[in-house]
Amino acid sequence: MKFSCFCCPLSHQTPKEDMGTESYEEAIDGLKKLLSEKKELGPVAAQKIERLTTELQAQSGFNPLERVKTGFEYFKKEKYEKNPQLFDELSKGQSPKFMVFACADSRVCPSHILNFQPGEAFMVRNIANMVPPFDKTKYSGAGAAIEYAVLHLKVEDILVIGHSGCGGIKGLMSIPDDGSTSTAFIEDWVKICLPAMQRVKKANSDLAFPELCTKCEKEAVNVSLTNLLTYPFVKEGLVNKTLALHGGHYDFVNGCFEMWSVTYEFTPVLKL
Ligand SMILES: [Zn+2]
Repeated sequence: MKFSCFCCPLSHQTPKEDMGTESYEEAIDGLKKLLSEKKELGPVAAQKIERLTTELQAQSGFNPLERVKTGFEYFKKEKYEKNPQLFDELSKGQSPKFMVFACADSRVCPSHILNFQPGEAFMVRNIANMVPPFDKTKYSGAGAAIEYAVLHLKVEDILVIGHSGCGGIKGLMSIPDDGSTSTAFIEDWVKICLPAMQRVKKANSDLAFPELCTKCEKEAVNVSLTNLLTYPFVKEGLVNKTLALHGGHYDFVNGCFEMWSVTYEFTPVLKL
């Protein structure tokens, strides 16, 4: 098995194609020479190269290794090397302010939609951005992440983000009344937010399925926020005001983001 490194000269040791390599390199050298002489052509050349790259990708088919390589190279050049102070700081440790629960859906990456930078948010992504209740055996993965974020990283805010067109929520809303399932994992997982499904169906019997799903996307976030309170260290953080809980909903159809917070206060009822 061979591994090639994306960030050092090792990547240049991969075998070259024999055919056409020379003329390709000559063409690139010619282009570089032209651009160094006529700098004003830079933006035009960049546009054309981008178009050519897209055409070549379409001709050659998708290359996952190349995609990862160019992705990392872009990150290293544009982010890593341009922010030495940040990455030097992060090499010593992390101290994120946020813990974020988001759906595994490829369209809702919090680093993109909320512009979280490396080190800013400790993230858990799963089907339909659900937070299961405290359960040491059934949901130890989620529990470990919450425990680590709250007790060790001491995050100050936990944000659970739902989103439009969530397949996991559609799956939850499609579970028949008898609770029977046909998937190995998915339905049992999304049943975490069964109370949301029941509440939404009961309160909105006049609505069509897509509207019910939209309501459930938000109600499921509320169930997750309630589930967070079953973790003693989360509840303690909320009571002591060292931790705040927030719900969010990202609508990628209309390009909107909504956010709300959980308030937890003791209200005096009697004073003698
Ligand atoms: Zn989703």
